[in-house]
Amino acid sequence: MFWKMKKCEKCGRLGIIKQCGDLKLYMLYREYVKELIEKDGFVSVESEYSVFEPCRDANGCWIDDCISYRIQCPECGRKYYLFADTYHGWFTFDKSNERL
Ligand SMILES: [Zn+2]
Repeated sequence: MFWKMKKCEKCGRLGIIKQCGDLKLYMLYREYVKELIEKDGFVSVESEYSVFEPCRDANGCWIDDCISYRIQCPECGRKYYLFADTYHGWFTFDKSNERL
């Protein structure tokens, strides 16, 4: 089991949050993910959407009912995702179970 690996120095302290119903906080998490990519060397991986593009359209509507972004830790390769269910109004930032 890879969860028994020793804690990664780089990503071990990321602020995991689960099923949070505050989409204002979600917007802050988007900024957080951007910073992880720009300043901490995290790699943006096979996401349908880019965190660097707006998540609302010109009319102020969410671009989709579900929006997810995925990043990978440059040290240990562990993946994380930021997922928002904008329709029901909650989001999660957590480790991905996928190794690759
Ligand atoms: Zn890591």
